Parts: sequence; C-alpha cells; structure tokens
Amino acid sequence: MTASSVLEARDLRRHYRVRRGPLRSVRTLKALDGVSFDMRPGRTLAVVGESGCGKSTLARLITLIEPPTEGVLRIGGTDVSAADRGSRAELRRSVQMIFQDPYGSLNPRKKIGTILEEPLAINTDMDRRSRAEAARDMMGRVGLRPEHYGRYPHMFSGGQRQRIAIARALMLRPGVVVADEPVSALDVSIQAQVLNLMMDLQEELQLAYLFISHDLSVVRHIADELLVMYLGRPAEQGPKERIFERPRHPYTRALLASTPRVEASARTQRVVLKGELPSPLDPPSGCAFHRRCPFATERCARDAPVLREVDERLVACHYAEDLKPWPSEAPAPS
Ligand code: SF4
Repeated sequence: MTASSVLEARDLRRHYRVRRGPLRSVRTLKALDGVSFDMRPGRTLAVVGESGCGKSTLARLITLIEPPTEGVLRIGGTDVSAADRGSRAELRRSVQMIFQDPYGSLNPRKKIGTILEEPLAINTDMDRRSRAEAARDMMGRVGLRPEHYGRYPHMFSGGQRQRIAIARALMLRPGVVVADEPVSALDVSIQAQVLNLMMDLQEELQLAYLFISHDLSVVRHIADELLVMYLGRPAEQGPKERIFERPRHPYTRALLASTPRVEASARTQRVVLKGELPSPLDPPSGCAFHRRCPFATERCARDAPVLREVDERLVACHYAEDLKPWPSEAPAPS
C-alpha cells in the first residue's frame, strides 16, 4: 500500500457467467477486467467512459456491494477479501455513496433530521441528543438551514436535495466517497454550487472521491486523476492536467473532442466517435477499440495493447507515442 493511500485497487476484475437462453452455452461477461489505482485523502479520481464501460461495476466493488472475481482491494490497509465480518462492516461504513438522483435516494416519508440521524442510529451507540447535534452540524456544513431539520425531501429543490444526500453520506465520516454522476440530474447553474460544496467538504474532511461521470467538463472541474475506461479496461489513466492537455489514447481524444464545454485548447479536433460500444459478451479481438479507431492497423486487431507509461500517464495503445492528426475522412466532423 502506498504511504498515503486510503484505498488501493490492484488488478480488480469482475466477471459474470451469463447464459442467454436455455439451450445456449454459458459465456463470461467481463464487466471489469483489470483496473488498478490508489485513492488518497483530499484527492479525486474521476472515472469516465460511455455507459457499459465498467464504471458502475467498479462503484459496486469499491462500496463492497459485490466482491471482485479477482484482484486485491485494500481499504485503510485492510485486504477486504481477508477481513472478518466485523471488519467488513467497519470497512463498509468507511466508504459511502452519493447517487445521481437525490430524490430517489431519499425516503420521501422521513424528515431530513431522521434521514441524517439514521446511519448513526444503525451504526453507532450515540444517544438521540448526540445524533441530533451531529445531524444539525452536518446540515450547517452542507449549507442547509436549522429549520430544514423538520422538513420532508419534497419541500426542497434538486440542488438542496443533493446537499441532503451529501450530508447523509458524510454522517459516518467516511474516508472514501463514491459519487455516481452526482450533478448530472441538476441544472447547470446548480451543478457548480454542488461541485464547489463537494470540493470544500473534501478539503475540510480530507475525503477521497471516486467521481463517476460521463461529463468531461464536470470532471475537469473536480478531478485530480483521471481513469478513462473502455469495455471494462483502462484506456488512459493519470494526472488530469496531462491528459486534458494532450490526450494520447484515441478514445480519450474522441471523448474530449466531443465535449463542448471543455475549452477549445483542450480539444484536438471536433470529432464524433463512430459505432457503438461493442458488447462485453463478445469483445473484439486485439485492442477492444479497434473497430471504432481511425488509427487501427492489423496489429491492433490481433494484439491487445498493454497499459504502459507514456508521457507521464498510462496508456493502452500500441501507438501512444505517435500522435497523428485525427483523419478528416474518418468520423464525420460534427
Ligand atoms: Fe487504436 Fe490501435 Fe491504439 Fe487500439 S491500439 S487505440 S486500435 S491505434
């Protein structure tokens, strides 16, 4: 474990055995296939990619909702697979989640005070008064007023509801927070407020965020490190600045180019990625991206590229050193 890591993932894999019909043979779906990273206090690792790239599977593994098929997950130095029941419960408390839909994740029949106190009532032996104090303290930290304590979720705006969801996630003082598209359901004007709140809380409480998003303009605002996923595997991974400045994997280049709110300087060229994400049940040979990649060669269809260090980040592309201009005849300019 790296000195300051609060969470360490090594070669995490999650495979499912799938049968698509009664007479069909069982196939292996590799939802996640070899992901490694470290999370540190006060830092944000953003995971980006199209839906089906493995982001949600990764979130389920990190929050201990399901175990990895292979690989090692350590939280606070403890190997999760070797932890006994008591330690696992404690590890589970140390990783909390913020969901995309704040309304769906809050019980409409419960008052805000009750919603915030619930994790403490279930997981600690704090008395009623201390729980109420802790809830009121957290409400203040996320910008809610004292009178909100006795109100119901439907009485709040979308942005306020996400503040409540953030407060609830922090009640047990986790070291790691997994945020799954936490602002994508909010108006753009509110998104910045919630992101700024998350960043303030991160600094104050030294939280490590795993921030899942498809929106690179949001990621640019909040991330320190970036993990670009394609079909369950990392395509490019490293410091945000390096990757935004000069993306090296063609998939990252396409993602950045199709993000209108990322400044023009970060966009190599405006392109639209052709084709659909292939099925993880039937992944292409060689490089999984080769059917959509305008730079693909015979080698790409044959040999899977290894994730390796190029220009201060990791890239899984045979030709990562060779940044050619995006061919104008391939994916039509939008
Ligand atoms: Fe494209 Fe080949 Fe690189 Fe894959 S290995 S991203 S197909 S150039």
